[in-house]
Amino acid sequence: MPGNIIGIDLGTTNSCAAIVEDDGNVKVIPYRGGETTIPSIFAIDDKGNELVGYEAKRQWLLNPKRTVYGAKRLVGRDFQSGFVKKMGEYFAYDMKAGNEGNVMIGLGNQEFNLQQVSSKILNTCRTVASDYLRRPIGKAVVTVPAYFNDKQRQAVKEAGDLIGLEVVRVINEPTAAAMAYGIKRNLNQTVAIYDLGGGTFDVSVIDIRGRTFEVKATGGDIFLGGIDWDNALIKYVIDDFQAKHGLDLSTDPIAMQRIKDLAERTKIDLSARTEAPFSIPFVTMTPEGTPLDINTVITRKLYEEITEPMVKRTIEIADMVIKDAGITVAQLDEILLVGGQTRWPAVQRAVLEFFGKPPSKSVHPDEAVAIGAALYAHSLETDAVDQKVQLLDVIPMAIGIERADGRMQEIFKRNAPVPNQKSLTFTTSEDDQVELIMRIYQGDNQDKAQSNELLGEFTFSGIRQGPRGSVKVEVVFDCNVEGILTMSAHDKNTSKQMKTTVKVLAAK
Ligand code: AMP
Repeated sequence: MPGNIIGIDLGTTNSCAAIVEDDGNVKVIPYRGGETTIPSIFAIDDKGNELVGYEAKRQWLLNPKRTVYGAKRLVGRDFQSGFVKKMGEYFAYDMKAGNEGNVMIGLGNQEFNLQQVSSKILNTCRTVASDYLRRPIGKAVVTVPAYFNDKQRQAVKEAGDLIGLEVVRVINEPTAAAMAYGIKRNLNQTVAIYDLGGGTFDVSVIDIRGRTFEVKATGGDIFLGGIDWDNALIKYVIDDFQAKHGLDLSTDPIAMQRIKDLAERTKIDLSARTEAPFSIPFVTMTPEGTPLDINTVITRKLYEEITEPMVKRTIEIADMVIKDAGITVAQLDEILLVGGQTRWPAVQRAVLEFFGKPPSKSVHPDEAVAIGAALYAHSLETDAVDQKVQLLDVIPMAIGIERADGRMQEIFKRNAPVPNQKSLTFTTSEDDQVELIMRIYQGDNQDKAQSNELLGEFTFSGIRQGPRGSVKVEVVFDCNVEGILTMSAHDKNTSKQMKTTVKVLAAK
């Protein structure tokens, strides 16, 4: 029976769930108070209660150290990386190194890894859906940024496992948006999806032929989104305050939280008007005990100036993806804008100028991804052949192995179609060699494997003993429709399967 699998857009700032109902129409599941999106925020209050969504957002200013937001940006990151350090300046909550070098979040006397944080948000989406539908929900199609690597995709599945929610398929956000746009319209079009959300940016070029969605190329930046717009304004306000009063607010978590909160509201205001006041009374005190306020006005012009490099970067990525797809801008039939940050006027102007045409108005920037996920979920469970959707996606970055000279040997190229399978044959290089160890990376730097994301270290053991060069081991690399890699190896002469162990290490 249809309607058992829900679609979930697990966003950096907001999440949203949808389902195809019995009448075949998609319903974006309403949350309390009629909202359709749920803030992707998790908190523990001073009594130890767990809060998710609006409940967590509401108490955020009072409890900044125990309120987690933007966690999706940290998934699959190494605690030691420069990026995590930079994020630490903006996030009031404590981050620590986990056993595998990953990021752990400390809330009071408890610690959570990022899969656990994601699972809390997924669970709320599931509960809201199951309350609305009045039946238990055990399965979901969950979307991820197209530019997520294998490890980040795995993390979403693990988050589902933690709460007994089977993530039947992980699909890319832009691909989902394209389905929301095109599934019922029997189109023959090539579209570009420009998806600028809270924390990530993706561009995909997709051919839509009836119910077949074929991704031609994809690209993006998983560290570029609305949060960076907020951060640019926060930095401006802090620098301005320091210049005026000689005091650094960035070391004061409560002041930072108040600035952060107002920064996002000011940004949203400034997408509809040309200037807005930025006032926070009693933000701090001088060493002598005199209270100080922030009292300034931000113009849209100034804000556009300080964020211009980010808009430019999105257009550079779009240009690269269109070239990768082997087409020109003029060959695109439609441009779809997805993600809340596409409401920013300078983004809309840059898109219009680059693509040479206004974007389609038929997708809802906040709901399209969840709708697409629900439509795909429906297609997976329906028996009606004419309702089936064929999805042909690609991997966003090359996957390869580290060679002895440190370079990366590509197994799958960037934009290689999935599912995909490749095999390589290795010959033993030592007498009685019993193991073959390889490190798998994902990224586009072929000269230096280690500068890419380390997906894991694979050890194939149980190799037949013999003089070097006498045993051939065939390793099969299998990238499934979700962009998730599995590997296996066998003896080429005897076909005997090797034992595989994987060590997943966080990248530096
Ligand atoms: P999403 O991940 O698609 O929910 O996008 C959320 C991001 O969009 C957040 O960073 C919001 O601050 C931003 N956003 C929402 N509405 C607006 C707006 N009117 N102008 C600028 N940014 C917005």
